[in-house]
Amino acid sequence: MTLRTIVPLVLLLCWSSTALAERSARIVIDPGHGGSQDGAKGPGSLQEKEVVLQLAKRLREKLQKEVGAQVFLTREKDGTLPLPERVQFANGKRPDVFLSIHANSMPTKKLRERIEGIETYFLSATASGAGARSVADRENADGPASQAVQSDSTLNFIIHDLVRMEAHAGSSRLAYAIHQQLISATGATDRGVLQAPFFVLTGVEAPAVLIEVGYISHPQEGTQLGRAEYQEKLVSAITEGVKTFLGEVSKRDASKAEEAPAKPAEGEPVARPASL
Ligand SMILES: [Zn+2]
Repeated sequence: MTLRTIVPLVLLLCWSSTALAERSARIVIDPGHGGSQDGAKGPGSLQEKEVVLQLAKRLREKLQKEVGAQVFLTREKDGTLPLPERVQFANGKRPDVFLSIHANSMPTKKLRERIEGIETYFLSATASGAGARSVADRENADGPASQAVQSDSTLNFIIHDLVRMEAHAGSSRLAYAIHQQLISATGATDRGVLQAPFFVLTGVEAPAVLIEVGYISHPQEGTQLGRAEYQEKLVSAITEGVKTFLGEVSKRDASKAEEAPAKPAEGEPVARPASL
């Protein structure tokens, strides 16, 4: 084990354990696609890459105002941005939360007319089902063919992997918190919280979710996704979900601070970084 390996990891773990209550939350929003990568197509000239960028900007404003968070967007304009660069950008900001925003699509005319609703994903090596698998395949299409591990040593990878495992439990809680708010605020069809191997979520060392805010391919839902009023509804719901999640993290931090150092909460893993 070299110093070069240890120092960044110690810094990472120290950051993770800085109580959230003592600082403003850091949030990275990733509007999917952009530039030559249009993403899914909606009614008329509506494109996923435009809708998700509009949503990301509205969400940034809302999170700054309502949560007092520091918010960073992986892209600010209609430019091509490879998936590995999104991950690298996100980790550079050491976020408490990572939100990738997408809109969904169906391939055939019949399905485009029929399927609508919201899905919230968090990372898993295996997909929840064939539907989740095909959504991940489509969203991963912008990425590299092989998901190479960017690591200079096996040990480095293993320790980073542990950090990601800690983040995984947080991702699940974050996904449920956001999804519940989205469904109750919009009345959209509830297509569930699902798991799938999304490239953009694999390397992010923070609780991370990918939100399919609706089916842009559906005649009514697609049209709605392009409207300012509906977009505001969506971002308000996501903000409420993030607020709930961060509140739980702060509470956990506070209760840990009151506990004796060696005594973990019942049912909790011993070495969980406090803010994950
Ligand atoms: Zn997408």
